[in-house]
Amino acid sequence: MKKLLVLFFVIALATTVANAEGEKYIALTFDDGPHIKYTLEILDILKENNATATFFVIGENARDHPELVKSLVDAGCEIGNHTWSHAFLDKLSEDDIREELDKAHTLITELVGKPPTVFRAPGGRINDTVLKVADEFGYTSVLWSKDTRDWSCPSVDYVISTATENSKNGDIILFHDYNAKNSPTPEALRILLPKLIRDGYTPVTVSELLK
Ligand SMILES: [Zn+2]
Repeated sequence: MKKLLVLFFVIALATTVANAEGEKYIALTFDDGPHIKYTLEILDILKENNATATFFVIGENARDHPELVKSLVDAGCEIGNHTWSHAFLDKLSEDDIREELDKAHTLITELVGKPPTVFRAPGGRINDTVLKVADEFGYTSVLWSKDTRDWSCPSVDYVISTATENSKNGDIILFHDYNAKNSPTPEALRILLPKLIRDGYTPVTVSELLK
């Protein structure tokens, strides 16, 4: 549980620093990709806004689209581990948890050229065993402070308002760049990202936020 607690401490600390220096940081995070359509659309919008983000990829999808992972890395985005098959880890044995993380870890390391340092459990479903195994990989387990629920295809307006209302320094916003249906995410991002920047937020990767 230590690294998770560290995360919340860092957010609290970042808020204090922002109050002193007036700088505000926010981390956009995209789970479950890469996806042949949505990942590229989202990456284009990030580039147009000179923004980076963290993509928590599923190993199986990264295996199918290694070129998309490389495009993300080339644009300065961070790749995090979101398991090999999007398994709910709290239902698995310790060995199976380790295998889910290890397979994705190995592939991401190969594609990125260095090992990932951040991990997000599918569904945010963690327990002590999950955190213990994540610790073996040296991961910081990352959750979120805002959930747009974009995976369930709410309206574009819902995604925009969830991402931009009551913002605070150190927010970690959860989006998805994979959707089997018609994703509202790119259209929402095209509006909400410039708005966050106008409101004084600098979008950074999760690891940059933790620094
Ligand atoms: Zn997920």
